[in-house]
Amino acid sequence: MDIRIGNGYDVHALAEGLPMWLGGVRIPSETGFVAHSDGDVAIHALCDALLGCLALGDIGHLFPDTSDEWKGVDSKLLLEKVVALIHGRGFAVGNVDITIALQKPKLAPHIAAMRSVLAPILGVSEDRVSVKATTTERLGFVGRCEGCEVWATALIVVE
Ligand code: MG
Repeated sequence: MDIRIGNGYDVHALAEGLPMWLGGVRIPSETGFVAHSDGDVAIHALCDALLGCLALGDIGHLFPDTSDEWKGVDSKLLLEKVVALIHGRGFAVGNVDITIALQKPKLAPHIAAMRSVLAPILGVSEDRVSVKATTTERLGFVGRCEGCEVWATALIVVE
């Protein structure tokens, strides 16, 4: 059995008056992410984890933030493209695990929605999509509400 594993990491700064997209879901919040795309830092980390499985580089390389093509882009579209790349190499997603560090707002009410949005894009059932959230107990840049930090792990298997 050929299985591959990858990890991804991303950070975006928070600013007032911007939309907050996380895990493909619009989160009600007074602050949102500063970004060239829609700033969905969770999907960005997930894309990098999937790309890492096959040593395909990172999303900054695939979808450069200097390109107008990706300005304001819905990150779900980037994830679809990354999943298509994985399938193109003969692999399917096994499972993914995402950890989001954000001080506020509380993400617990939105976790189920994120899993239900991400699962069909990944082509797996929701029980293969783990999304976890934590604060950093007011420590560091996350704790000061300056940004959000996300780690993702992905496992893929030969189709
Ligand atoms: Mg990013």
